[in-house]
Amino acid sequence: MSLLSFFFLSRRITKIQKTSELYRYNRVWIPDNEEVWRSAEITKNYKAGDRFLHVQLEDGTELNYPVDPAALPPLRNPDILVGENDLTALSYLHEPAVLHNLKVRFVESKLIYTYSGIILVAINPYKELPIYGDAIIHAYSGQNMGDMDPHIFAVAEEAYKQMARNNKNQSIIVSGESGAGKTVSARYTMRYFATVSKSSSNAHVEDKVLASNPITEAVGNAKTTRNDNSSRFGKYTEISFDQSYQIIGANMRTYLLEKSRVVFQSENERNYHIFYQLCASAMQPEFKHLKLGSAEEFNYTRMGGSTVIEGVDDRANMVETQKTFLEDKHLGIFCELLDLNCDKMAQWMCHRKIITTSETVIKPMTRAQAVNARDALAKKIYSHLFDFIVERINQALHFPGKQHTFIGVLDIYGFETFDVNSFEQFCINYANEKLQQQFNLHVFKLEQEEYMKEDIPWTLIDFYDNQPVIDLIEAKMGILELLDEECLLPHGTDENWLQKLYNNFVNKNALFEKPRMSNTSFIVQHFADKVECKQRITKYLTVILSPHFQFHLCANSFQDNPVSISPFSSTINIRSARPVLKSPNKQLRMTVGSKFRSSLSLLMVTLNATTPHYVRCIKPNDEKLPFEFDSKRVAQQLRACGVLETIRISAQSYPSRWTYIEFFSRYSILMTQQELSINDKKQICKIVLQRLIQDHNQYQFGRTKIFFRAGQVAYLEKLRSDKL
Ligand code: ADP
Ligand code: MG
Repeated sequence: MSLLSFFFLSRRITKIQKTSELYRYNRVWIPDNEEVWRSAEITKNYKAGDRFLHVQLEDGTELNYPVDPAALPPLRNPDILVGENDLTALSYLHEPAVLHNLKVRFVESKLIYTYSGIILVAINPYKELPIYGDAIIHAYSGQNMGDMDPHIFAVAEEAYKQMARNNKNQSIIVSGESGAGKTVSARYTMRYFATVSKSSSNAHVEDKVLASNPITEAVGNAKTTRNDNSSRFGKYTEISFDQSYQIIGANMRTYLLEKSRVVFQSENERNYHIFYQLCASAMQPEFKHLKLGSAEEFNYTRMGGSTVIEGVDDRANMVETQKTFLEDKHLGIFCELLDLNCDKMAQWMCHRKIITTSETVIKPMTRAQAVNARDALAKKIYSHLFDFIVERINQALHFPGKQHTFIGVLDIYGFETFDVNSFEQFCINYANEKLQQQFNLHVFKLEQEEYMKEDIPWTLIDFYDNQPVIDLIEAKMGILELLDEECLLPHGTDENWLQKLYNNFVNKNALFEKPRMSNTSFIVQHFADKVECKQRITKYLTVILSPHFQFHLCANSFQDNPVSISPFSSTINIRSARPVLKSPNKQLRMTVGSKFRSSLSLLMVTLNATTPHYVRCIKPNDEKLPFEFDSKRVAQQLRACGVLETIRISAQSYPSRWTYIEFFSRYSILMTQQELSINDKKQICKIVLQRLIQDHNQYQFGRTKIFFRAGQVAYLEKLRSDKL
């Protein structure tokens, strides 16, 4: 044995011995199939190298638990630490500790919010809680994040404060799986801004900003098996502030409305709320001319088998939707849009006009062609209508006055995987890869790089970089580009596209697989899970993307209709009686996939230019039961959304940082005359800080900046406000 390997071996033994001391009559977590982790008390003294740990479970069961002496089970935290506001304050930071802490807070103390470093973890209580009133908003207003209990309002306050303090745009990124509470959280942040920045001059701006929610939810949300009010589109709402940080308007961008829902709903799901609201209000004088009946009468609304949602009154909601339309004129237009000429429609949905040099023939379509045409049209109309409504809301939310800064709130579907995944899931998961990467970049790369730049000692931490899967999707000759290529071929088919994917990636890209038993799907390994996308992808695309089909549809169907819809232009021409016709030539260069790619990259550019704040929503159980904590489901989501990774890094990092100049100007009020008389400002900062905060581990002096551990800036702010 060489001297060096002896040295390492002896070091390892010492380490194991030292570790093993901790396993004397302590408490540990052992893996469990049901509970994920179970607490166990060590009942016999553990000696270094032992291959068994004698433990007693909480139900009294005694076990001889087999262990690897080099990787003993994780230790439990002392009870005094359990229930901490911030997971990074725990002494032992690992998955069972995090899970246990969240569970204790949620189940025992009914606390749904917990920090995990810079992230706010929000667990859906599935119960109305009295923690969102105006009094609470005012309690959070102007406070420091660390001084108050974790809350969505604290995140909103932090964004608002940083906007005002640093004159920088902010964004609040809310993510989580369907039903986890994203939309509710996003709504509360907007309520917060509307309340704290109420301007006296233009009192209705805030109300209008808030009123946009019921409208977009009526046309963009639907009941799914996971969430009675599931948003079927992504939304980035920019709230504009003026020089005095009062709201002056808002603007929203939407992403990927789920169009297939208009014509197809799975068992126990519904179409968009608006259809049921309209049907339930069919007898109201203003809707009578639409000649609607009950939602049970229409194929598009009854397909899922349940047209009513427990506890939801569609008729009352229609009143709400109507109320929030800003002028009645718009409502009129909205109804007109749905009131299509039935005779003409029937004719052109079932026939095709074929024009040759010598004659014009009208040919009936096959049933399958007609069904496809009908569905494609329904989806088209609806998505145009949706875009139109969003555009009108944006116009209504645009007020004179110069935007000084903004806070953007992103509410976008989290990672999704179903038994059958279509192109929509593919896009959603692609978006989540991008967001996860942005998060990684923000938290990990930027921090580490900055510490290095500032000469601050810092151990590089490995983190999962998902660039390879993003490349697989969006790089040159990636999945999307091959799709575009296929769609632009005159005889492009689904099969050809899939074949190209198989040829290019099978056995060449570890993140791509062809399912053994299928020629009609492919599997992508995402950061959160493997997802198999099936044939429905391609079916969806060929219907949507065939330009000749769309041209005929457009040219033939809408001649006499006041609502003209051009599939080639992105707007609906409402007033003109003439359809906007364009020839089916090169207009359709952008496929659904590449359109999404470019809107996503625009979003990433916007987000990258703001200071991000993260809210991770967690769905605690699949039954929507109040305060029920299913450890398995929670652990799965914590892993998928990167909370556990952040825990590791947050504990070691310095979340707040100030340049010496910033520190000097903000805290000069805390400096003594003698200190201020020193020439070197950087030196003054160092002396003052060492005087104010005795524990020198709480900050680091970098080259140009001071780095603070969590909570320290809050402390300095307190000292400062005491002086003021
Ligand atoms: P997501 O947008 O993530 O799909 P939602 O925000 O629509 O989920 O939330 C789903 C449902 O969960 C809501 O309709 C509501 O009943 C419940 N919920 C979510 N957050 C809260 C909360 N903070 N308090 C009470 N109930 C909530
Ligand atoms: Mg939602």
